[in-house]
Amino acid sequence: MAFDFFIKNGIFIDPISKVHGKYDIAVDSGRVFSIHPSKEFGLEKYAKNSIDASGYLVTPGLIDLHTHVFPNDTEIGIDADLVGVQQGVTTLVDAGSAGAATFPKFITNVVEKNITQVLAWINIASAGLCSGRAELSDLTQIDTQSVIEMISQFPIIRGIKVRMSSSVLGASGLRPLEIAKDLSRKVGLPLMVHVGNGPPELGYILDLLDEGDVVTHAFHGKKGGILDGDEILPQAHQALKRGVLFDIGHGTASFSMQTLQKAKKVGIKPCSISTDIYLENYSGPVYSLTTTLSKFLALGFSLDEVIAAATMAPAAILRMDHEIGTLQVGRIADISVLTIEDGVFEFTDSENEVFKGHQLLRAKFTIKSGRVLKCR
Ligand SMILES: [Zn+2]
Repeated sequence: MAFDFFIKNGIFIDPISKVHGKYDIAVDSGRVFSIHPSKEFGLEKYAKNSIDASGYLVTPGLIDLHTHVFPNDTEIGIDADLVGVQQGVTTLVDAGSAGAATFPKFITNVVEKNITQVLAWINIASAGLCSGRAELSDLTQIDTQSVIEMISQFPIIRGIKVRMSSSVLGASGLRPLEIAKDLSRKVGLPLMVHVGNGPPELGYILDLLDEGDVVTHAFHGKKGGILDGDEILPQAHQALKRGVLFDIGHGTASFSMQTLQKAKKVGIKPCSISTDIYLENYSGPVYSLTTTLSKFLALGFSLDEVIAAATMAPAAILRMDHEIGTLQVGRIADISVLTIEDGVFEFTDSENEVFKGHQLLRAKFTIKSGRVLKCR
């Protein structure tokens, strides 16, 4: 009964299974073969290889809900494996780099070429971000029939991306969001809505969203965000009550620790923590998903909360919690092995605000479908 490898003595955190403790995981033929409290069964002697994860954290493969990984075809795109498996992330979701007209190329150039699992929010605008970043200023760029065709052809499309800030929209106002919302109801997939500088006002945007829709950049520090002074905007409150989900989408200009702290004070927390990583912010302030998660440890979130926000939460948003975001016997072995260092670390948000934390998460190994990769 020999199996491929054994990860022993790590601290295993799996929020879906409500596990946080010392566990051993056996992997065979790309799938999880067993998960047991350490030293319970003496399975190690049947392993062809083993990884000693003493002092490391072991989690279900991390999922980054908002990234841009369509290099060459978009100005901002970065290589998927560079910010995926090389940084401890087994699943990346590209957020609107490709639209219906550019999606087939995204499949051949990105999805099929990387080890990292790449999923997508398809841009409602046909070119996506392949012809500049004002993709919704011309409404003739929206062809809903083609979007429907792409969705039926490519199940990696998990939702529809609409970027609702003034520089993207020109004079289009709320119209692109209304069109996207109609389409989202028709195809039964959620929206990811980017928010930033108005117009339109955030309240009008939020009022159009349903349960399961995602607001990314929800904690940005620009004018017209989710806070009105120190209070939460009434429309934001109502949206959360309806089941609209707030995502981080850190990016170059879209995460403010002050907004986060004020929101946290009135009981508002992000559902998911994503990077919005791309070429321009990879060398700072974003760096990686593990750095972004470390920022939330510094801001008072628990380790279990930040791991859940990059495993359980995005898996549920993608409606893939039956496949990823947790480890169960028989499932694909997507696993992240992380170090957690103690010390004094300085972090920077998108407003150039520097803050200190005492723990730093770093990726050590990524196991993608049972294949062990050492991280950079
Ligand atoms: Zn983005």
